[in-house]
Amino acid sequence: IKKIALLTSGGDAPGMNAAIRSTTLYALHHGIEVIGFRHGYNGLINNEFIRLDEPSVREIVGRGGTILKSARCEEFKTCEGMKQAAKNLSAQNIDALIVIGGDGSFAGLVKFKQFYSGQTIGIPGTIDNDIDGTDHTIGFATAVDTAVNAIDKIRDTADAFERIFVVEVMGRKSGFLALNVGVACAAEHIITFENFSNPGIELQHIATKVERIKKHRGKCSHLIVSAENLYPGGANKLASDLADYAAIECIPCILGYIQRGGDPVAKDRILATHMGAHAIQELLAGNSDIMIGIEGQFCKPIALSESVEHHKGVNQNLLDIQESLQDLR
Ligand code: ADP
Repeated sequence: IKKIALLTSGGDAPGMNAAIRSTTLYALHHGIEVIGFRHGYNGLINNEFIRLDEPSVREIVGRGGTILKSARCEEFKTCEGMKQAAKNLSAQNIDALIVIGGDGSFAGLVKFKQFYSGQTIGIPGTIDNDIDGTDHTIGFATAVDTAVNAIDKIRDTADAFERIFVVEVMGRKSGFLALNVGVACAAEHIITFENFSNPGIELQHIATKVERIKKHRGKCSHLIVSAENLYPGGANKLASDLADYAAIECIPCILGYIQRGGDPVAKDRILATHMGAHAIQELLAGNSDIMIGIEGQFCKPIALSESVEHHKGVNQNLLDIQESLQDLR
């Protein structure tokens, strides 16, 4: 291998920069030239790139966002777009393409193999932690911390006024953020894909719980953490439905994009550094069409197609434990 390309695609996640740095430096250590395409797959199609060297990745290990910029790219979903991207890579004699992104970006990379004969590797970078085949994705730990810090503040004001809050966290179609944030904030109730059946049952469940906890602890604050894209109409609708259904006054709060930003916590910097370098190790071993996953303390290759096809659910036992902690006899 003489020359590789790197890009960040889809939802940005804290730690992507640390992955860019480690991939670049580890490649340079092995005498491999590195090109960084900008704005996700758009850069591949439009041939927008920079040469990545030591100065360009200096002092970025702890910086949020991505120096290569990220984006979505509809054109890459077309044959013409993919052909153009493959042509640009071939014109520069690029032996391998590394994509740091989420499952959508990986789905695109799997399809791209029809047009591109070089090696391909995915590095999982998403705050959602929704990629199968890896315990953690880059950015998840930081997003959990960001949400927890914000909710700790909400809890203070909720306590002061003895109020009920419903806080909506990100996660796309998965409940990893909701569960982990809920556990860390000692949420009275967590709504996630694994325990949600329908709005009516959810309202009933919350109303019973609010009543029960009030009886046990007296009037107090009550925190509900909900995954996004779950309750129809989101946190605002849930709050107004609770008022209609059980005369429960509840304040909705959508944390939103702060969860995607900020400096990566040490855990994400370490994970990104490990995965980035491991991607180069896999390329040197001649491997392709894989994602770098982490299991325990070791990185391992997973077939890219598998990581895209399978859904990863949250740990049901942890969800049950959290529920038990709110239900004392
Ligand atoms: P993420 O990688 O964070 O899951 P998206 O789902 O938005 O983000 O995907 C990022 C980009 O990956 C898309 O804008 C598109 O360029 C590419 N992509 C996603 N799915 C496909 C697909 N089925 N075929 C080709 N490209 C895809």
